[in-house]
Amino acid sequence: MRGSVARTVAHDRRPDPVATESARRYVNQWVEEEAIGAERVRAFVLILKTRGCYWADFKGCSMCGYAKDTLGRSATPEELREQLDRALVRYRDEPYVKLYTSGSFLDDREVDPESRLRIVGAFSGRARRLLFETLPEFATPEALRPLRDHFAGEVEVALGLESTDPDVLARYVHKNAPPSEYLEAGDRVRGLGVRAKAYLLLKPPYLTESEAIRDVVRSIGEASPRFDALSLNPVHIQNGTVVEWLYRRGRYRPPWLWSVVEALREGAARRGTSRLVSFPTAGGLARGPHNCGECDARVLAAIEEASLSQEFGPLEGLVCSCQRRWQATRDLEPLGVEA
Ligand code: SF4
Ligand SMILES: [Zn+2]
Repeated sequence: MRGSVARTVAHDRRPDPVATESARRYVNQWVEEEAIGAERVRAFVLILKTRGCYWADFKGCSMCGYAKDTLGRSATPEELREQLDRALVRYRDEPYVKLYTSGSFLDDREVDPESRLRIVGAFSGRARRLLFETLPEFATPEALRPLRDHFAGEVEVALGLESTDPDVLARYVHKNAPPSEYLEAGDRVRGLGVRAKAYLLLKPPYLTESEAIRDVVRSIGEASPRFDALSLNPVHIQNGTVVEWLYRRGRYRPPWLWSVVEALREGAARRGTSRLVSFPTAGGLARGPHNCGECDARVLAAIEEASLSQEFGPLEGLVCSCQRRWQATRDLEPLGVEA
């Protein structure tokens, strides 16, 4: 049942192959606050339009709707060059650059090796740190070494580990590989002198709020020795996903921001030397992680500040009357109790 819903959803969300004009334009670009060590810096974020994640064609992860931002075919090197050129017009030497493709930057079907070198080289000597995402099977020494050597700065590879529990990953997130492959990829990446970052998901479907917090806190402890940075990502409802299918039927509520706060506070004690951050997407919105509406902006600001400063103590001082409702419902969701 779950599998058939997932497959239908995966097929529905992949667009038909698009015209060349659209393929010459990147999906989005913006600048955001970040930190490199203790220093606050600006980060240049660029989402390139590629064929997208191959796993989304087979099944796709239960919370991921990024296939809508893809081409439905591979981008040509010329199209990628045009996307890059358009983005560089907007680049102001921000020290941190984050490259996303709605999939894996290291998958040749998304970005061919020569285009990868050109893109990385364009920021070399201008940015201090450059991040891209990939599935673990593409994080090979053959793919990474040329990029590491081509970038005068620090390369950072982000891997969507999501959870270190194999059952959660396979049954609820629908990930393509077990956690062990992500952890081994983290080791490989660091063995090459490249930074490794892991995304951890807060509240995959079919878990209660309490189970989700326990899952992500345990994952922080188990992943921290293998990664330089851990990003706690609360689920938000993306179009055309299994999570949206459940949400529309009243069977899923995005996580409370109080759960993010608790997971960060407990995770902080287990993160070892790795950075622990959370920058919730769609925070405070109905389809994103949210509280009562009154306290959301304040709690989100505190989460962002803790992520940038790595000081988690101030999170303890946050209070709102909605915490009682969060406490009362956190173990009850499988019974259909909506908060
Ligand atoms: S979450 Fe990552 S692996 Fe899963 S479908 Fe989306 S892009 Fe692919
Ligand atoms: Zn509140």
